[in-house]
Amino acid sequence: MNMDVLVSLSKRRGFVFQSSEIYGGTGSCWDYGPLGVELKNNIKRVWWRDFVQARADMVGIDASILMHPTVWKASGHLDHFTDPMVDCRECRRRFRDDQVDALAWTHYCAATKGNKFTIPAGEPCGHCGQRRTLCPECGKGELTAPRQFNLMFKTFMGPVEEDAAVTYLRPETAQAMFVNFDNVLQSMRLKLPFGIAQAGRSFRNEITPGNFIFRTREFEQMEIEFFVNPNDRVEGRPADEYWHDRWIEDCMAWFKRYGLREENLRLREHARDELAHYAKRTVDIEYNFPIGWSELMGIANRTDFDLKQHAKWSGKSLTYFDEERKEHVVPFVVEPAAGVDRALLAFMADAYREEEVRGEKRVVLRLHPELAPLKVAVLPLLKKRDDIVRAAHEIRATLARQWRVVYDDTAAIGRLYRRQDEVGTPYCVTVDVQTIGDAERGERGDGRATIRERDSMEQIRVPIPEMPAVFRELLDGGAWQQVAGRYPPARG
Ligand code: ATP
Repeated sequence: MNMDVLVSLSKRRGFVFQSSEIYGGTGSCWDYGPLGVELKNNIKRVWWRDFVQARADMVGIDASILMHPTVWKASGHLDHFTDPMVDCRECRRRFRDDQVDALAWTHYCAATKGNKFTIPAGEPCGHCGQRRTLCPECGKGELTAPRQFNLMFKTFMGPVEEDAAVTYLRPETAQAMFVNFDNVLQSMRLKLPFGIAQAGRSFRNEITPGNFIFRTREFEQMEIEFFVNPNDRVEGRPADEYWHDRWIEDCMAWFKRYGLREENLRLREHARDELAHYAKRTVDIEYNFPIGWSELMGIANRTDFDLKQHAKWSGKSLTYFDEERKEHVVPFVVEPAAGVDRALLAFMADAYREEEVRGEKRVVLRLHPELAPLKVAVLPLLKKRDDIVRAAHEIRATLARQWRVVYDDTAAIGRLYRRQDEVGTPYCVTVDVQTIGDAERGERGDGRATIRERDSMEQIRVPIPEMPAVFRELLDGGAWQQVAGRYPPARG
């Protein structure tokens, strides 16, 4: 699967546009279009439903993006949220030192009279055998020694641009859960273990953003801080270790449930020397993106580091009273942290298929029906017949009370189906002469419309009044075969 194919489909069909495109675009910022926003909202909605609403041990918050600047001192972001940066002395481009070797590089080869080549990442020149030492982009300049670059966006709170007013756009949503730990604990009367979840925007001034929406400077995260009592044991193991494993399993299962194929997912354990100093263990869920295996989400056991740090810097106690042991404890925290945009990219990439149907190519996004931006498209077979068009509009209006449903009559039916397949619409409804009948010929309609299923392309005839109930069943996870078995197949 090629990223360019996804980028082009995204633009053509209204999923993702480059931000401020008419002004030449803003580096690494993207806008979600009419279908993209539906897909993104659906991802966040099912995540919230499955991990917050459905669980008795979880609550949510929605915190502000601007926080007290000391939050970032306490969390360590001011001092440590940096990446090593190198600059090209010639073209002035900047790179992450630890990622330069992962880039294809430009080479002026002395063995071939200085001809210019683009050489795959990590490989030597096939002519002279030389490895990259210069700027990978221009191939001419030397790179500076690495220096640390803080990834937080700095801004000023209030009308005066002075040091005292400096604040930051949050680089992760997690800190608001720690800072609100006591508020949530007291107001909701919670018992450990419990989690606080939040989905929202984060900002990182990435040195080398790119690969479409994989790495951007403004993105959305879905994060959970799951607090456990470090003195508890579950199934004979320390509670934090038990829950860490549970969360890894649950998150992996969640991505599979919504369509990511097993062979495209794997776990990656962080090596000792890679772990943040406070982390006891971190495991990434990696996805086989069009750019190769990369992090989709991280699940870290952050111990009691964050609560202790915020207690220290704020002077407020952030503990939990353990009734059984009659003691105050600082909970440990397990943090499943996912990116909404990366999840969206993975779901789209995994769903994308090019198939051959009766000698013709069809592009289909096999998105899970719960994620699909449009649930149903209603298509009149003859747009010149007012009664057919009217019936199609009525069906759309009825279904649209519950789902995102569109009407389209701007092409012939084969084309309309292909358009819906390409954006992953799981069901199409067509209204035809058979539905309405033909008054001039004295033929009565059967009052049924055709439902076509995206993946099997099977078609059934369903009485119009039964449509809402049928779609409720199908869109609530009912199997197509089961529903289809109750109705006659459509002709042709
Ligand atoms: P990376 O190593 O790719 O920079 P990270 O380990 O710094 O990511 P975390 O801090 O663990 O990322 O953030 C949790 C999740 O947020 C990531 O798994 C990813 O899905 C998402 N995320 C992080 N940075 C970005 C970004 N710049 N653009 C889009 N999504 C991001």
